[in-house]
Amino acid sequence: MKRIAIYPGTFDPITNGHLDIIRRSSELFDEVIVALARNSQKTPLLSEAERQGLIEAALIESCSDRTNIRSDAFQGLLIDYARMMGATAVVRGLRALSDFEYEFQMALMNRKLAPEVTTVFLMPHEQYTYLNSTIIRELAHHGKDVSDFVPKVVADALKKKFEVKYH
Ligand code: ADP
Repeated sequence: MKRIAIYPGTFDPITNGHLDIIRRSSELFDEVIVALARNSQKTPLLSEAERQGLIEAALIESCSDRTNIRSDAFQGLLIDYARMMGATAVVRGLRALSDFEYEFQMALMNRKLAPEVTTVFLMPHEQYTYLNSTIIRELAHHGKDVSDFVPKVVADALKKKFEVKYH
């Protein structure tokens, strides 16, 4: 049986931390689907189309050596989507203790709803543990170069976004 994993998120925008988790997942599973959650409770900076486009471009830029990674988007409950895709695992990244409480609740609820789908937590390389999309948006908003933390396509897109906004 093909072992399919879903890596869901808001990806506003995708960062090197996300990509680290995606690469690790691609070593553990036959197929990894990076899945943009459309109905996230968050109000994203980037539109759905922009985030999806950046995920695709980032995968080409950073993961083109891996043939078992693809991107998609979903609406509704993650667990329904995971079932529909025939996934056996949901991958989440754990950076610090602060992620734990929320992730723990989600994982247990998802297990209750779909016992056949296992949530797998992966830790990124320690250089990414302090990295999150909110910080990236904040830095870019203030005109700082974020190219150390995100793929080039993302850094360029953010630069353009904020240039357009302020000039
Ligand atoms: P969500 O809105 O679901 O939190 P995110 O796009 O913020 O979506 O993150 C998706 C997943 O990636 C989450 O499991 C999150 O913990 C993880 N993640 C985000 N940033 C990093 C990082 N720097 N290192 C490892 N995992 C990360």
